[in-house]
Amino acid sequence: SGRLSGKRILITAAGAGIGRAGALACAREGARVLAVDVDETALARLAADAGDGAIDTARLDVTDAQAIEALIASREPFDGLFNCAGYVHQGSILDCDEDAWRRSFAINVDAMYRLCRAVLPGMLERGGGSIVNMSSVASSIKGVAGRFAYGTTKAAVIGLSKAIAADYVAQGVRCNAVCPGTVKTPSLAQRVAALGGDPDAVWKSFVDRQPMGRLGAPEEIAALVLYLLSDESSFTTGQIHVIDGGWSN
Ligand code: NAD
Repeated sequence: SGRLSGKRILITAAGAGIGRAGALACAREGARVLAVDVDETALARLAADAGDGAIDTARLDVTDAQAIEALIASREPFDGLFNCAGYVHQGSILDCDEDAWRRSFAINVDAMYRLCRAVLPGMLERGGGSIVNMSSVASSIKGVAGRFAYGTTKAAVIGLSKAIAADYVAQGVRCNAVCPGTVKTPSLAQRVAALGGDPDAVWKSFVDRQPMGRLGAPEEIAALVLYLLSDESSFTTGQIHVIDGGWSN
């Protein structure tokens, strides 16, 4: 038994960070989780950490349309989908060439369109489901310097989520967007390192803009995602769920 008992849930980018925390939280609450990622080593670590065959894993590059179709066709329908995969391009419009622009849309938006489209028929067949799409405070909520392509695509995620919610509200499928502020994940650490200069100063600049005086933890975001995937959230759909330690307040 658990808050997600009996539910089948698909989570992308589950190898690290928020996706990994989400997969562990869902498994702990009794869901049957299929965790996908491009990083098979990270998936093996996740499965081992969850223990007892609690989490099933499969390699999936979310930019591969055929692989998405094949994966969904080979599985039973899902009750929940957490689209967590995302790519952060750092820079302004003048730093963003055509390739960076297209890559941002491919990972952050096109993949979500394909995954939602692939799981929806199964959800409708089962009489309902919950889709949670990873957006960000850097979106239509807030303009953030150096996040041109990222903010554009994360705003698109909000529109995509609201449109799906409107179309399927009467058929039991809910769709919500989650919008974290800055969360301490391995990829954030990599981006800090890639910036060069003094990493302590960069971390301090992230923390300084936080009214709570600290960054978010992946587990805190996972708790919101778990709620949205569960029936506890049965009256919310098409909404922007901001979780940012007061940053955008
Ligand atoms: P992350 O961005 O490092 O992603 C974790 C996993 O994604 C890795 O295991 C990686 O292998 C996998 N991945 C990368 N490309 C993939 C692909 N094409 N197909 C499948 N898997 C792929 O981890 P994160 O920082 O937890 O971010 C997760 C999501 O949360 C992203 O959408 C990100 O934009 C969003 N987000 C993060 C923050 C933050 O501060 N960390 C804030 C707001 C929103």
